[in-house]
Amino acid sequence: MHVAIIGAGQLARMMALEGWRMGLSFSFLANPGESSICVEGLGSVVELQEGMAAEELYKALGEPDVLTVEREHVDTELMASLEPYCKICPNPKAVAVSQHRGREKSFVNSLGIPTAEFELADSADALKTAVENIGLPVIVKTCGEGYDGKGQWKIDDADEFERLLPSIDCSKELIVEKVVSFEKEVSVISVRSVSGETAVYPITENEHSEGILVASIAPANLQCKVLSAKAKEAATKILESLDYVGVLSIEFFVVGDELLVNELAPRVHNSGHWTQAGDVCSQFENHIRAICDMKLGFTVPKTNVAMVNLLGIAVTPDLLTAANMQLHSYNKQPKPKRKVGHLNLWSDNRAELEAQVAELSKA
Ligand code: ATP
Ligand code: MG
Repeated sequence: MHVAIIGAGQLARMMALEGWRMGLSFSFLANPGESSICVEGLGSVVELQEGMAAEELYKALGEPDVLTVEREHVDTELMASLEPYCKICPNPKAVAVSQHRGREKSFVNSLGIPTAEFELADSADALKTAVENIGLPVIVKTCGEGYDGKGQWKIDDADEFERLLPSIDCSKELIVEKVVSFEKEVSVISVRSVSGETAVYPITENEHSEGILVASIAPANLQCKVLSAKAKEAATKILESLDYVGVLSIEFFVVGDELLVNELAPRVHNSGHWTQAGDVCSQFENHIRAICDMKLGFTVPKTNVAMVNLLGIAVTPDLLTAANMQLHSYNKQPKPKRKVGHLNLWSDNRAELEAQVAELSKA
């Protein structure tokens, strides 16, 4: 089978590395000027050209059996135009839902799953009204684009709002969200196959710094058993109602025994990189299995597993400082704060693992 991936970054790399092992071949669709260093040697890279016809693109990609994505900001019309030629997973409609924070939250709420309270705005006046209605403190975000905390303004009080207002581009669609005072940020990696089989990995606990994921640990240390059941139920509902195929990642805030959805990512996710360890089928392999209609693999680790991101440093073998550790490099040039690789580590001893993660994150 031949799989084409929209995107040529580290997520595409890790999907292809798993797929190669299972005898699949790959091609990648890169944006004009996008670096494809991450997928070097893993398949042909096609650069997207304006006005390329669907059939031409399909042929350029090597007539794939299935097309998938490594990112959410893709041209969903272009995806849909390839539907007569090959399977498209996840479906373009599901991707479109996740591309707009307003659409995404309304959809999630429509399934009876809670989110932060929110209102949309598309002008300075509408923004003032929305902030008033939601009540400070709030976070204003652009509805489209935005990643790693970019395009967001946290507003604590009226003075700050006045000060920040000129820097907010009100010509773009905005969402005003109530600030959730959460106990933890967690995520769930879920997957559904062409045949409708679903699987959900245990809740992962995530630590961010300046909007960037620093470390994850799974299973999350949660007092409340109810949360696991709620996470599984929410993921399954979302997967099924979107007729979703592939890995879907869901970020949640934990508030008491409630899980509020923060956002959906229609793809494999940084907070799921730990699944490459811990004796489970990795999110990358399960994504490939799902879209190629294979049986899904195990998702429940036998021990505690963690991941620490390598940001902006040279990825060298001397980073492997312990036996319970895996090194993953994305083949990228380091740049400040750029995700260039990660370490996965595991231990039956939770406290020791947490100490190891804390030390690595600090370094
Ligand atoms: P990424 O792509 O890295 O996930 P993003 O740019 O898509 O980030 P969000 O996940 O929406 O943005 O927000 C980034 C971070 O800001 C969250 O992980 C959380 O720490 C904080 N945050 C976002 N929304 C809220 C909220 N309503 N209440 C409290 N904190 C929030
Ligand atoms: Mg996020």
